[in-house]
Amino acid sequence: MALGWTTNPEPDDEPGPTEWKTTVVDDACIFLNRPGFDAGPGCALHLHAMNTGKHFSDTKPTVCWQLPLRAVDRDEEDESVTSVLTEFGRDGWGEGGEEFAWWCTESKDAFTGGEPVYKSMEPELRKMLGDAVVKLVITKGVDVMNVTHLGRGATAAQRVALWWSQSACTVLGCTRTRRLQNDHRYEWVKTKRTRVDELDPLCKHHHDLKTRDNWALVEGEGPRPMVPPDDPRHPKNKPKQ
Ligand code: SF4
Ligand SMILES: [Zn+2]
Repeated sequence: MALGWTTNPEPDDEPGPTEWKTTVVDDACIFLNRPGFDAGPGCALHLHAMNTGKHFSDTKPTVCWQLPLRAVDRDEEDESVTSVLTEFGRDGWGEGGEEFAWWCTESKDAFTGGEPVYKSMEPELRKMLGDAVVKLVITKGVDVMNVTHLGRGATAAQRVALWWSQSACTVLGCTRTRRLQNDHRYEWVKTKRTRVDELDPLCKHHHDLKTRDNWALVEGEGPRPMVPPDDPRHPKNKPKQ
């Protein structure tokens, strides 16, 4: 039954959830803009996401935003279910997969990302696995949030956990996510310890304001304002008790 943009390939009396496919026009998905199209070539739903500030996983069909990853549920003998996050290979399409002339996960041309997948595909992973599971995967099951490291710098696992729990600069309103420096909330020379819950990621601009111009985050945790030294909220201006 064709309904314009989408098609239901299953007969109406087929058991289970209804699966929808995008309609095929001229041998391709109806949303595929061809080269020369005014708005630009490629997926119209992806383009719409870019033009409206949305993530494309909110505008595209599930399989389209999950590629090249796939979560497969496996039924175990003890009746538990194991979810495996894996490559969306040709076999993910069933028999038709072998007919594709080219497939991205087999071509080194497609492996150009400079960042680990847990960073570059963060929104997709959060949706596919849920926050708790992703944190377990990337920290190998260690509860790094509660680890006290005696060195000055955060361990690799602490950095990942921190990045995952707070991926932008701590200063309220600052959205920078790149080259963050993990700043100790309490001076390390006094505490001699590094804990995830005592680190404040700062972008270079705000880290410079702190180290060069003596600005400081107001007291507290999580996103909060950074103020100049003459501001009454600056921790050094706190009344002595
Ligand atoms: S990404 Fe999906 S919705 Fe977009 S053009 Fe390709 S098949 Fe169609
Ligand atoms: Zn900042």
